Amino acid sequence: MTQTKRIQSALLAWYRANARDLPWRRTRDPYAIWVSEVMLQQTRVDTVIPYFDRFLDHLPTVEALAEASEERVLSLWSGLGYYRRARMLHEGAKAIAGQPFPKTAVALQEVRGIGRYTAGAVSSIAFGEASPLVDGNVARVLARLFGIEDDLRKPKGMARIWSIAETIVAEEDPGAWNQALMELGATVCTPRAPRCLLCPLTRECKAREMGREEELPMMSRKRAPVLQRRVALAVRSDKAEVLLARRSAGGIFAGMWEVPSLELAHGEAHHAAAERLAVSVGVSVEGLESCGEIVHVLTHRRLEVTVMRARLLKCQVPLLHAEYEAVEFMSRDEGVLRTKSTYGRKLMKMSFPLTPGRR
Ligand code: SF4
Repeated sequence: MTQTKRIQSALLAWYRANARDLPWRRTRDPYAIWVSEVMLQQTRVDTVIPYFDRFLDHLPTVEALAEASEERVLSLWSGLGYYRRARMLHEGAKAIAGQPFPKTAVALQEVRGIGRYTAGAVSSIAFGEASPLVDGNVARVLARLFGIEDDLRKPKGMARIWSIAETIVAEEDPGAWNQALMELGATVCTPRAPRCLLCPLTRECKAREMGREEELPMMSRKRAPVLQRRVALAVRSDKAEVLLARRSAGGIFAGMWEVPSLELAHGEAHHAAAERLAVSVGVSVEGLESCGEIVHVLTHRRLEVTVMRARLLKCQVPLLHAEYEAVEFMSRDEGVLRTKSTYGRKLMKMSFPLTPGRR
C-alpha cells in the first residue's frame, strides 16, 4: 500500500468513528452546505449551529435567499460578524437562482463570492467531486504530516499546501476525506498541544517523527491590529428620537445603521472631534459630555470609541464625511432593529441605554 493510501484509509476510518454530529453533515443539499461553509469561515462551530438552523428555516432554498431583502438576510446573520460574507452569499444566490446548482469546483468559482475553499467543500461534499480544499485546520495538518517548513502566511507556502491537498484527496469519498482533514485539525491536530497519541496518522507524520509537531506549521508574525480612536455622538430629538447614520457602501460595516462616529485626528480633543462630527451629521448641539467608551476588535483594527452625549439645539443640512451616506432620526426601537452588527449594538447600548419608562 502506498503512503497516500495508508493515510487515506486511516483517516477515513477514524472520521467514520469520530465525526461530530453537525447539522450540515446530515444533508447533501449543496445550498445548505454552501451556507454552512460561509458561516464557518472565521467562526466557531458552536456559534454557527443556531444561526445555520435559523437561516435554513427562514430561507430554505437558493431562490428564497435570492428573493429576500438585504435587510432580512442581515437580520438572520446579525451577531455572526463579518457581514460581507452574508452579502456575498446573497449576491451568489441571486446569480444562480432558478438555474441548476453548479456542480464542479471550477463552475462554483464562477459564482461571485465563492472562492477556492468553498468551491472545494461544496463540490466534494454535495457532489462527490474529488476536489481539494484548504482552510486553516487542513493547512496545519498537512504541514505537520509532510513536515512542510514553508511560511504558511506567504503565498508560496500556501501554494505548496494546496498542491499537496490536490494530490492526496481521496477519490473514493472526497467529501468525507475533506471533512476528515478539517475534523482532525479542529479536534486532534490542534494549533497548540496536538494530541498525537490519539491521532490516526501518528505513524505517518513527519513532524511527529522529528519531534517538531509544536513548531510546525511555520507562520510569520501577524501584524497587531491598528488602534483607531473614535468619537461617537449620541443625540436625541425633542421627540426622544435617536440620531443614527448609515455606513457607505464598500467600506467597513457597509450599509449598516449605527450611532455616528468619526476617527480622531492626530492630537484632537474629544470635544473638538464631536463638534466636527455634529456638523457632518447635520446637528447643532450643546452640553457635550462623555458617557463612556466601547472597545471593539476587528481582524486588523482595534476600535476605541468614546461616546459623547449632547442636547440637540437644531438640525442643519448634513455634510456627511465619507464613511456615511445617510442620517436619520428614528425611535429607539427602530434604531435597535436597524442596528445589525455587534459593534453597532455595543454603541447603541452605551449611547441610548434602555431606562425604565423611556423607549
Ligand atoms: S501525529 Fe500529531 S502532529 Fe502529526 S498529524 Fe497527528 S496530531 Fe498532528
